[in-house]
Amino acid sequence: MAGSAAQGEYVAHVLGFPRIGAQRELKTAMESFWKGESDEAGLRATGKALRARHWQVQAAAGMDYVTVGDFAWYDHVLGTLALLGALPARFGLDSGKLDLAAYYVMARGDKDHFAMEMTKWFDTNYHYLVPEWTPDLTFDHGVDWLFDEVAEAQAQSHQAKVVLLGPLSLLFLGKIKSGLSHKLELLPKVVAGYEKLLLRLRGQGVTLVQIDEPILALELGREWLDAFLPVYLTLANAAPSLLLTTYFDTVSAHADLLRSLPVAGVHLDGVRGVAQLQEFADKWPQDKVLSVGIVDGRNIWRCDLDAALATLKPLHDKLGKRLWVASSCSLLHVPVDLANEHKLDGEIRQWLAFATQKLDEIFVLRQALNGSADVVAGQFAAARTALAGRRSSPRIHNALVQKRLKAVTAADADRSSAFPARIATQQKRWKLPAFPTTTIGSFPQTPQIRAVRAAYKRGETGHLDYLNRMRDEIRLVVERQEQLGLDVLVHGEPERNDMVEYFGEQLWGYAFSANGWVQSYGSRCVKPPFIYGDVYRPEAMTVGWSQFAQSLTQKPMKGMLTGPVTMLQWSFVRDDQPRSTTALQIALALRDEVCDLEKAGIGMIQIDEPAFREGLPLKAGDWKEYLDWAVRAFRISAAGVKDETQIHTHMCYSEFNDILPWIAAMDADVITIETSRSGMELLDGFGRFQYPNDIGPGVYDIHSPRIPQAGDMVRLMEKARGVIPDERLWINPDCGLKTRNWPETYEALSHMVQAARELRERA
Ligand code: GLN
Ligand code: ZN
Repeated sequence: MAGSAAQGEYVAHVLGFPRIGAQRELKTAMESFWKGESDEAGLRATGKALRARHWQVQAAAGMDYVTVGDFAWYDHVLGTLALLGALPARFGLDSGKLDLAAYYVMARGDKDHFAMEMTKWFDTNYHYLVPEWTPDLTFDHGVDWLFDEVAEAQAQSHQAKVVLLGPLSLLFLGKIKSGLSHKLELLPKVVAGYEKLLLRLRGQGVTLVQIDEPILALELGREWLDAFLPVYLTLANAAPSLLLTTYFDTVSAHADLLRSLPVAGVHLDGVRGVAQLQEFADKWPQDKVLSVGIVDGRNIWRCDLDAALATLKPLHDKLGKRLWVASSCSLLHVPVDLANEHKLDGEIRQWLAFATQKLDEIFVLRQALNGSADVVAGQFAAARTALAGRRSSPRIHNALVQKRLKAVTAADADRSSAFPARIATQQKRWKLPAFPTTTIGSFPQTPQIRAVRAAYKRGETGHLDYLNRMRDEIRLVVERQEQLGLDVLVHGEPERNDMVEYFGEQLWGYAFSANGWVQSYGSRCVKPPFIYGDVYRPEAMTVGWSQFAQSLTQKPMKGMLTGPVTMLQWSFVRDDQPRSTTALQIALALRDEVCDLEKAGIGMIQIDEPAFREGLPLKAGDWKEYLDWAVRAFRISAAGVKDETQIHTHMCYSEFNDILPWIAAMDADVITIETSRSGMELLDGFGRFQYPNDIGPGVYDIHSPRIPQAGDMVRLMEKARGVIPDERLWINPDCGLKTRNWPETYEALSHMVQAARELRERA
């Protein structure tokens, strides 16, 4: 093994570091470049400074390698295509001469090109750009950017480990656009491209390449698995030493394959796949390194160092220095540095570790293994104290919540009557026309609304003043909906900046960081809240707003809540209890809110679950367990109301076909879904499945600036009528309208109401 390992040293490393910068410097620099306020040289200088800083942080923390190649100008999958010269053909770019302006056309689109498709990176909230596979694609002649970065790291005297997305994962993650019957038909060209890359890196003096093959955590088809050995036999000849990494789940099913690959080492996720570690270590070949990701790259909790060491010890007994200590996956998925959290509650802060703190944890574990336990005893003691404090903190445990959890019965998940009886009661109550029209919840969030909310948050606007401004906005939104002639109204959500944060701030057990940014895609970052304790609702959260809105109209006003699975999915969650328990706690809090809304006279309540599908485990074999508890959590949040109260849910941008039995099992009276982008194709599955309850297929894409005509929407609804009976159909946009402006929103909705009228005449 090359580098440190060759000298027989213990090795600590991370699979990648967040690229965006602690202050989101890369975001700022990219956006200013896009606006034309800075040039490519300016943007490049920011990137270079960030890389230098991040390597310095890793080296200073005692990492034996700094990771080079985890940097990306927008996304590392697009970066890999640029490096290989395999840019989507439709952009007509010369990959050898690619500049950043052209690179961003692929990522973001322009007037002549639509952007590359974006999709979720495994089960994370990071989105990558999907490679576009066509038979004519070539895999040579890419950009020099990576080689320049290697030279930078070398000039800064770092021991560089270069990271590359592996050839099989790259191929797998792309989509065939034309002319190929299987992605693997491109494999020979891809492998030749990687060979050239590796040779060039070797020529540059690189001794270790981390090659990421995260698809190994999926359930892979035989043809993909069979491709690994020949591919790596070829690459081994060209390459510096290769460390093949797997992460996000166990790969124990592929243990034989991984042992047989001609690589210098393999990395395993020791957090999500802790059960696989010993078995791998027991049979691990003498000439190979086993890198164990023991510090969680997917969550923000401080590492239980004692437990981590206890896991590593027996592996170390087998492997000695061939055991490397690492993060479970790239640290891309956690915020950069806790040091920037000045306002965080002191007690909670003790319990946390962001990327920079995780480096220290990895180093401390490495030291404990290499016989320097006494030197790091202080760090172990500090971690122990923090963990003990967390375990016993009264802020984590709430006796009321525990009691309530124990008292939950099967009946709590059921409405009083089945859907046919409920819907009959509901129809009698409201007498809505055929094809009722509604919206998904939010209306345009104008700069003025945002300014009032921000001023209120800063304490510059008093409570009453704020209340009045928001009520003015709600009044306006209700008036406009009445003018438009919509059938079921909403209050417009002006008081919410974010659908999770808004509720998290009112629930016990949730905390928020000031700067805990995580890259979601491109320049977009999110600041997920963290759920640290039992979730408890001290008082009603939305009742006042909904009640006020209902007082302004005779039409039904939908109450608007974020569902338990989405509240869970878009947060960092507790690692001291199963996700299902946390989901149930949130569900109980929401159930109280739902019941309070009903008591206050709100007869329709929407519980949004846009992240429902996102929670699916990587392996299909694990889906059922997740879906069962996720559905149950939703049902418990909804089932406290009478038959006459109508429960809605909303889901967007997801496929449903393979989980339809569970969508139906959620038993919402009405579900609104995204379908317009697929031209209602998504609805076919609901039809075939004979989805029993009411459904509002989105009739227009709110993400597009194009204003839809009534005719477009009628056409889509005619397709919908072909698969769903008329009396089950609603008409609504795809998603909330908060990102749009008023003129376009008003016009689009007036066309939508017009479409409903036309349909009623036809029916
Ligand atoms: N009710 C939310 C809104 O309209 C739903 C948002 C979502 O689905 N992401 O904004
Ligand atoms: Zn939506």
